[in-house]
Amino acid sequence: MSRIPVAILGATGMVGQRLIQRLSGHPWFQVAAVAASSRSVGRPYGEVVPWRLPGTACDDRVARMDVLPCEPGRMPRGLRVVLSALGGPEAGEIEGRFQSSGFAVISNASAWRDDPLVPLLVPEVNPEHVALVQKQPGLGYIVTNPNCCVVPLVIALAPLHREMGIQALVVSTYQAVSGAGYPGESAWDMLGNVHPHPGDEELKVQTEPLKILGATSRPADFPVSARCVRVPVVDGHLISVQVKLRGHPSPEAVAALLESSYGDLPTLPSTPRPLLLLTRQRDRPAPRFDADSGNGMAVTVGRIECCPVMGIKLFCLAHNTIRGAAGAAIANLELLRSKGLLP
Ligand code: NAP
Repeated sequence: MSRIPVAILGATGMVGQRLIQRLSGHPWFQVAAVAASSRSVGRPYGEVVPWRLPGTACDDRVARMDVLPCEPGRMPRGLRVVLSALGGPEAGEIEGRFQSSGFAVISNASAWRDDPLVPLLVPEVNPEHVALVQKQPGLGYIVTNPNCCVVPLVIALAPLHREMGIQALVVSTYQAVSGAGYPGESAWDMLGNVHPHPGDEELKVQTEPLKILGATSRPADFPVSARCVRVPVVDGHLISVQVKLRGHPSPEAVAALLESSYGDLPTLPSTPRPLLLLTRQRDRPAPRFDADSGNGMAVTVGRIECCPVMGIKLFCLAHNTIRGAAGAAIANLELLRSKGLLP
């Protein structure tokens, strides 16, 4: 079977590099074009990319490709699918141009996540939201994956919300530096320091779980408070969760429910088995030991305990540029293909 050609927009960035790494040898998709900003356009990818992924070199075939501008008319003939790892304020506008030109746009950027007709997808949690693409105006469509902290958060919380109902949620994040892209935060902010997030990360962590955990047409309705902090860790976001659940279940009941969840996962190439790992070690999950679990696609949950204020507290963790970004986008692309929704 021939593989479906895809282009990577923002291919030179941190998430773009992960997309290229993880699509190398993918059974369904093949990178057929790479695109980035005017800084990189017209030069071979291998020369302009500041490759930062430990342990792997850039795919030779991709390294020889000339970087294209992010313009629909410059994509190879017959290519109709773009994975976007665009950063910067123009991401939304560029993605919109691809959508209206008939492309399927699978985006990591935040520009379209709030649009009620754009699905904010985690295939293992809300695959039914993918139906929204058929309601979008224009020739193509946009599908987004959530903020990198929100992916592990909703994977840990979805079974609890479904079975028990979340009444209130408090989230504190400990985010890795790779989450800021390359070159990312300054050494001055990150060395010997922890850095409270100066941007709108907290707003994303407060709003995105409600869209994902809600129905297609109506977000879930419970208060969420988030504080987000960057810490001097390379990969892996650790998230502290305090949650108030209906019926005040015990930590043992919460652990048992999580342990028995996700038995009937979709059969997509990227789906890890198991998806959710429960650790009983007191000092886990921790980025160094748990971020790469399930080829970077699993979520580790631990320290499920009584919270005197909210009822239950726990930690969850996932690899931010894989499960929280590139791997999440590829999983969304696989879901679209499995539903017959690719152009
Ligand atoms: P990054 O390392 O800064 O890379 C940004 C990419 O966008 C580069 O390829 C850059 O090309 C390109 N770009 C910037 N401005 C452009 C423009 N005007 N026209 C065309 N291309 C442009 O960022 P990143 O960390 O990979 O993040 C990419 C996106 O994923 C962001 O929207 C981010 O919010 C989201 N995201 C990131 C993570 C994570 O863990 N890092 C997780 C979830 C979501 P040049 O190299 O040519 O400048």
